[in-house]
Amino acid sequence: MSIRGQAVKTVLVAGGAGFVGGHLCSRLRADGADVICVDNLQTGHRANLAALTGQSGFRFIRHDITAPLTLPARIDEIYNLACPASPPMYQINPIHTLKTSVLGALNLLGLAKAKGARILQASTSEIYGDPAFSPQVESYHGNVNPVGPRSCYDEGKRAAETLFHDYGIQHGVTTKIARIFNTYGPGMAPDDGRVVSNFIVQALRGHPITIYGNGSQTRSFCFVDDLVDGLMRLMATPHEVSYPVNLGNDGEFTIADLARIVLAKIGSSSPLIHSAIPADDPRQRRPDLTLARDVLDWRPQVGLGDGLDRTIPWFRAQLVAQGHTAEAVA
Ligand code: NAD
Ligand code: UDP
Repeated sequence: MSIRGQAVKTVLVAGGAGFVGGHLCSRLRADGADVICVDNLQTGHRANLAALTGQSGFRFIRHDITAPLTLPARIDEIYNLACPASPPMYQINPIHTLKTSVLGALNLLGLAKAKGARILQASTSEIYGDPAFSPQVESYHGNVNPVGPRSCYDEGKRAAETLFHDYGIQHGVTTKIARIFNTYGPGMAPDDGRVVSNFIVQALRGHPITIYGNGSQTRSFCFVDDLVDGLMRLMATPHEVSYPVNLGNDGEFTIADLARIVLAKIGSSSPLIHSAIPADDPRQRRPDLTLARDVLDWRPQVGLGDGLDRTIPWFRAQLVAQGHTAEAVA
């Protein structure tokens, strides 16, 4: 197939039915690529792909990436987004989470090698654990507990980075590593348990806002469109750009600040309640974006206020669709 004489790329998105994956599949299709989405629907939803389903350039394969994947198709690029990202979700079956990162990376790297495809890993700021330095620069090796509730995710993602690095060195595969910081936007599952979705849903329903600990821990929140743009720019870089690159927004907010901002945006009078901080919860997170700026010519464009304005209506519509009356939703 071709558009105006140019060959159409075939892009495989593992985890394409998830929050970020759904946006990425849509952007890739809009840019003219054929897209194959591979997902086991563990935390993803076909609704995230509704607009693409039935298009001739889109195919969905239900598959768990812990098992090898053989495909007859030509594949030019692989994005590996497959892994639950929410702490409550990745902690349900920690052994499977670790297998997803390690065996999944091995299986997809093997596929990339066989197809001559370039491959991008959705890594994470969790590589830095509870950081001793802020902002976190890619050269910082992190402070991760290998035997805690977050370890299945953090250590799995760290091992996956090692595999990507080694497939580049040993097999010459073109590999990319994006260290993604907390990202939000329309398409997050309302019940997925991350802080932005929890606070918005709680505020809309008039339920208490659940702050873990005293709320002084910080996060830096990136709007999903910015992240997808950064991922696609990273995929397009020359072979030599195989080192990790931070992608996120460097505006830093305490969790208590986030609660106040969400309540004000929604006009909700939900009370704030505090409960114990989960073990190993990082106290601070803020990306150093120098490398992303220099190598990708990329900066996030959407601040937290604008991003929430684009996100809250989507959650309101979800709640109404779930049977909550419009009046019950703030
Ligand atoms: P998500 O949970 O919404 O999406 C993950 C997708 O992967 C889901 O569709 C899920 O069904 C699928 N999946 C999980 N395990 C799988 C397996 N073994 N085989 C096949 N499919 C599987 O999460 P998200 O927020 O869209 O995150 C996407 C990726 O980005 C993840 O790899 C995550 O670790 C990474 N990331 C996200 C954030 C963020 O804030 N959103 C931050 C850092 C890293
Ligand atoms: N958090 C919170 N209330 C919630 C959900 C999360 O206070 O209902 C806190 C959590 O303890 C953490 C921060 O918000 O300090 C971000 O949590 P999230 O699960 O979104 O992501 P991560 O901890 O992986 O950055």
